[in-house]
Amino acid sequence: MPPLIDIKKISKTYTTGSFRVEALKEVSIQVNSGEFVSLVGPSGSGKSTLLHIMGFLDRPDTGEYFFAGHPTASLGEGRLAAIRSRMVGFIFQSFHLLKRTTAKDNVMLPMVYTGLGASSQKALDCLKLVGLSDRVKHKSNELSGGQCQRVAIARSLVNDPLVVMADEPTGNLDAVSRQEVMQVIKDLNARGLTVIIVTHDDEVSQMTNRVVRMKDGVIISDEVRRPSAASETAVTPLPPARHSFSPSEFLEQLKVAFKAIWSHKMRSALTILGIFIGVGAIISLMTISEGFMKSLLSGASEDDAKKIWVTPYYQHGRAPRRFTMNDVEAIKSRVPLAEKVTPILARNLKISVGDKHVDSSVQTREGFALEEQKPRDKFFENRKLTGRFFTKEENLNKAKVAVINQTLAKKLFDSGNALNSDIRINGINFLVVGVAEDHKAEQIFGGQPTAYIPLNTAAKRVFGANRLDYIEVAAPTPADAPEARRQIIMAMRAERGTREDAADDFDVKTFEAQIEMFKSTMGKLSLVVYSIAGISLLVGGIGIMNIMLVSVTERTREIGLRKALGARNSDILSQFLIEAVVLCVIGGALGVALGFGLGWAAYFFIKVPPTLSAGTISFAFGFSTLIGVGFGFWPALRAAMLDPIEALRYE
Ligand code: ADP
Repeated sequence: MPPLIDIKKISKTYTTGSFRVEALKEVSIQVNSGEFVSLVGPSGSGKSTLLHIMGFLDRPDTGEYFFAGHPTASLGEGRLAAIRSRMVGFIFQSFHLLKRTTAKDNVMLPMVYTGLGASSQKALDCLKLVGLSDRVKHKSNELSGGQCQRVAIARSLVNDPLVVMADEPTGNLDAVSRQEVMQVIKDLNARGLTVIIVTHDDEVSQMTNRVVRMKDGVIISDEVRRPSAASETAVTPLPPARHSFSPSEFLEQLKVAFKAIWSHKMRSALTILGIFIGVGAIISLMTISEGFMKSLLSGASEDDAKKIWVTPYYQHGRAPRRFTMNDVEAIKSRVPLAEKVTPILARNLKISVGDKHVDSSVQTREGFALEEQKPRDKFFENRKLTGRFFTKEENLNKAKVAVINQTLAKKLFDSGNALNSDIRINGINFLVVGVAEDHKAEQIFGGQPTAYIPLNTAAKRVFGANRLDYIEVAAPTPADAPEARRQIIMAMRAERGTREDAADDFDVKTFEAQIEMFKSTMGKLSLVVYSIAGISLLVGGIGIMNIMLVSVTERTREIGLRKALGARNSDILSQFLIEAVVLCVIGGALGVALGFGLGWAAYFFIKVPPTLSAGTISFAFGFSTLIGVGFGFWPALRAAMLDPIEALRYE
């Protein structure tokens, strides 16, 4: 049977600046299963270094180490972590219990890193073995030193190790506790457990069965005092490296992250401020602009979606070519998909009642036959109409009748009741025959005072010119609009005799194109808000990085402990990444609430309810996660790369 530990001529040299310390010089030692060994000697003689190498916390510079019959020199980080996790139990002088954590949870900690699931029964059994069944729910700060060390012993046993290694386990204890703890260890050895203790206390070493004395990095004596309980080492296969994260580990890491964040509430709150404000700004803009789109589209009826507008082509430094009735006729005769063609004149004119004058837009229509006006609701352009619209006959007769919108009615008449009153447009009296509710978009942005008068009246009596401003065309269905647009372009080019290679001197826009234009305007506005938010997020991210670095430093010893208990570098990395991500996601979630709240605050000014879509929410969470990973990575990597021994010794 091979010895459990077979060390052949290992050396270890530390270099600090120009100073070299040979901590171990070609040391050889064998330890069999079931032995109870103490390593003794003066301070600095190399005891701890040897123990750390035996426990896979450190590697020798030269020499060979066989563990349970296997060479270990070529094992990678993951394999070594697995051996520490499943085959070696550590006990430290300063206990290294997790703060504010119960005895039971402390004992359960090593099970996180086996990947085999955790059993609280096992933890309770181990606590019973060290005589602490009545202290299971006590937290580390509610236990005496001796009890803490017994919890640590229970923790070292929980994964059924082949060997327990203790570094000055009684160094921090009074005489009574020391006796207690040593008795527990002795009893464990009597049950067959292999134990190796580093101590400079003779009383402690006398309780062991074999005393190995060291001095200046070499073994100077090796004395067996009592035979150990015979126990054979079966050639146990070394455990494989873990390659996955178990759900229980993920849960544990989440728990640790929340605990760390919760125990520094103020600090965490200040840290997430940047993310909170940045995400809040983005989300408020997104909810508002989505709200806009929604109410614009819901306000737009199929009637709107069918429409196509033919407008003059504005070119810098040149007067646009205006439309005439010939253009209207051309469209009417040559565009099969033009169901309705409405020439429109529009001017900005003063409209007066008594001594009130209001600058208004005056637009023209050709009038609707009374039966066209949906008698029951009296709709005009998808808006409610009080009274009626003027008729085609009134247009032909150049009647002085007008339909005005609500904004204008309110400005001209204190009562708001304009129906059947007289108004003056350009000094000419008109009778108000109808009042139209404002457009949906006007209700949002604040309405433009508008009056509609018959086209012929406008051309002959008011505007004094019959150049049209634009032509509105309606296709049979919204789906026909793009094809209708194409036909209109052909008709207009033919009518105007545009040469094949010349550009159009007019614009034809469908409703969809208008929406696209709105979107692109919104996009430009967004760019500004997003840049501001981006700066806030950058600052927030740097804050996260800073706090994570602080957190890593504060918890250096905990990192060392976790590694000693079998955590891989990747376990530590993921733990701190998760903490950074949790911080960011909390900031992001609060930011979503802030953004939505700002959206509602804006509601009082712009009267559009904000829309919070699933897309917006997932964007916020995805983005926050990304910031957490991005800015948490470096601190997490620093934590992962810490040397376990140095981390454990960190003051
Ligand atoms: P012991 O446990 O017997 O007190 P150690 O094994 O801790 O001795 O140390 C042996 C020698 O190696 C000491 O001289 C110590 O100063 C030196 N040493 C140990 N660890 C380091 C290190 N990380 N860097 C530099 N020197 C070290």
